[in-house]
Amino acid sequence: MTHAGLLACLAAAALLHCGAPRERDAGPLNLLLITLDTVRADRLGCYGYGRGTTPVLDGLAARGTLFEQASASSAVTPVSHASILTGLYPYHNRLRSLHGGAGYALPEEQRTLAEMLAARGFATAGFVSAFPVTRHYGLDQGFQTWDQDFQSSAGAVVSERGVVDTGSAQRRADATTDRALAWLDGRTGGPFFAWVHYFDVHDPILLPPAEYLARFAPASASHADRLRAIYDAELAFVDAQIGRLLDRLGELGLRDRTIVVVVGDHGQGLGDHGWWGHGILYQEQLRVPMIVAGPPPARAQRVRTSVRTVDLLPTLAELLQLDPPEAPLDGESLGAFLAGSRQLPRMAYSESINDLMAYDDSPRAGESLFAVNDGRWKLIAAREGGASKRIELFDLSADPTESRNLAEARPDQAERLRRQLEALAVFPVEGPQEPLPEEVRRRLESPGYL
Ligand SMILES: [Zn+2]
Repeated sequence: MTHAGLLACLAAAALLHCGAPRERDAGPLNLLLITLDTVRADRLGCYGYGRGTTPVLDGLAARGTLFEQASASSAVTPVSHASILTGLYPYHNRLRSLHGGAGYALPEEQRTLAEMLAARGFATAGFVSAFPVTRHYGLDQGFQTWDQDFQSSAGAVVSERGVVDTGSAQRRADATTDRALAWLDGRTGGPFFAWVHYFDVHDPILLPPAEYLARFAPASASHADRLRAIYDAELAFVDAQIGRLLDRLGELGLRDRTIVVVVGDHGQGLGDHGWWGHGILYQEQLRVPMIVAGPPPARAQRVRTSVRTVDLLPTLAELLQLDPPEAPLDGESLGAFLAGSRQLPRMAYSESINDLMAYDDSPRAGESLFAVNDGRWKLIAAREGGASKRIELFDLSADPTESRNLAEARPDQAERLRRQLEALAVFPVEGPQEPLPEEVRRRLESPGYL
């Protein structure tokens, strides 16, 4: 069978089972997109972590395709999500900075996955858990139901910082899941697209119930190890909430009619490369979990080839037989991978522009960062004030944790990737943008961005 044939079989799987059609299953498949904020791939069991953080996601991966080397286009939340939802890199969709203030929302003319699906008659609903993915950034485009109601479902929580009022900026995974389940229960038929975003692991603020904290003892009494244990506990709680979503799909008879996609927006430093949060472009911040599961008989497989989160939109457009956007996409369909075909690695591009200004005590504070990764060699270019400041080159096959900068030892590879980066013409205006509005500043303070 050709790739196209295999793909058609996969897309129509529940309909045809590659054979006799079943009348009662006719009609488009549904789509459930789950985005995991701040989750680095190596903290999931199915990516090799041994602490039992993600039994639900491990089970999902075991019935779908797990991409071992998926790269995010950015290490900050709205920028990375905009790429997932448009199939475009930031320099094409023009949402390039968290801290740019007004005018840095996804432009209205961009075509999003939700708009494409709504145009095809899907009921579309988004349930988000934090301010950086809200209407302010334009990420609600195309959603008929849009739930960013943090005020009524969060409130003050007790955290590492003491009592924190998260009411205006974020909510815990159970609150978001409750809303999504209520919407699923109230549906009246027809295909749907639901996007559920979880934010818990972003900070030690949205603490999970005590039994989750008790399950993950810190490796030592150090503050850093205590925070790492909380990160694991928060991830385990998110995983359990995803279990509620998947269970409800089963109870509603929708499991075999729904494609489930799980993807991270970026990872987290957790101390690697001297960085706790995110915003810079090492692999612990860019390599994200990415799983495409269902419907049966989707194959259980692991793909080791380098792919990108911008590839998701064209993949889903192909699986759901949507009309492609008029403008060319940066992403390419992963359909051949899903059908089991071996493919060449894809060059991954990532950027971080004006997003380090929040770290004003860091020597990186004024930098903007640009990276390209061909699946083995990765170049990170730091620029400041419009000029090149530093080049780093890593051989990910020999040094996956990026501990040895080979820019001087391998000038051939550094020059090759530098030319590829420059060919993208991605270097933008850098430096301070218009001042951040006070309301935005206040809301970003709560999630810990500033
Ligand atoms: Zn994020």
